[in-house]
Amino acid sequence: MTNKWNEKTCPLCKEGVLHTGTKAVTQSYKGHRYLSEARGAFCDHCEDGFLEYDEAEEIAWLTFRDRIDAEDASELVRIRKKLKLTQLEAARLAGGGKNAFSRYERGQAKPVAAVLNLFRLLDKHPDLIKELTV
Ligand SMILES: [Zn+2]
Repeated sequence: MTNKWNEKTCPLCKEGVLHTGTKAVTQSYKGHRYLSEARGAFCDHCEDGFLEYDEAEEIAWLTFRDRIDAEDASELVRIRKKLKLTQLEAARLAGGGKNAFSRYERGQAKPVAAVLNLFRLLDKHPDLIKELTV
């Protein structure tokens, strides 16, 4: 509980006083912003503080991340099909083993940022595929 911190001197800056309350928190995942309201005790001087663990909020955050990963996976499927590549050919381009792409598309593995970036570039400039060895 963060109530024990209420009206105590902030141990982080040693100048302010902590007050229990809520604070808008922005987190980001792969460039997507996630806004939430965090409960805790916050300093009136340094604005740092102690967050209260909220299981429902934690689950909402993990669900948000899963949704973005699922969007990445379906985006890779769409771009691969647009480029008329098989999963094996796409895996040769991306590296990571011959099954890598089918694992990305099924959500069993997360592609590194370079893979997503490569396919997004090819989505906008499909003619560049000629420059690559498939
Ligand atoms: Zn402080």
